[in-house]
Amino acid sequence: MVQVLVLNASYEPLHVVDHRRAIALLLGGKVEVVEPARDGRTIAAVSRRIPLPSVIRLRRYVNVPQRGAVWSRQAVLVRDRMTCVYCGCKLTQKTATIDHVQPQAYCRAHGIPANTWSNTVAACAQCQARKGDRLLHDSGIKFHDPAYEPRRPRTRYVVLSSDIAPEWRQYIEI
Ligand SMILES: [Zn+2]
Repeated sequence: MVQVLVLNASYEPLHVVDHRRAIALLLGGKVEVVEPARDGRTIAAVSRRIPLPSVIRLRRYVNVPQRGAVWSRQAVLVRDRMTCVYCGCKLTQKTATIDHVQPQAYCRAHGIPANTWSNTVAACAQCQARKGDRLLHDSGIKFHDPAYEPRRPRTRYVVLSSDIAPEWRQYIEI
């Protein structure tokens, strides 16, 4: 049995099916082949042989509800890849701190929840101290990556039961 990666029309990975299911989807016109199997294998389908797919894509976008990731200190560190968002230094479990972009006191005073995905980032103790209890724009500190935006992480996982085909890698984050 060969596993086939199914992508949404938007190229987001959705799940993995076996090749029989993939062929059925293909013959039903529901999907198109994005990547054929690297070994060039073909499979008998009705009256012809067709290349065995490795990655297929739905022709029509399906809306998959995103399950909300539960906020936790550890989850923020993982989202920010154990890197200080201000200076870019690598953090360890011991050195990592969680910085509140809008300080906790500010949040309290304004009735805003402080421990949210968009208000918490991974930071080193030095940057945390430099920023102090100030708002980001008052502290003069900037995000290391100018494009960085604290976001709720995506929580869609594709569970794989075998080795990942090399041609899958550009579609999934490992
Ligand atoms: Zn730092």
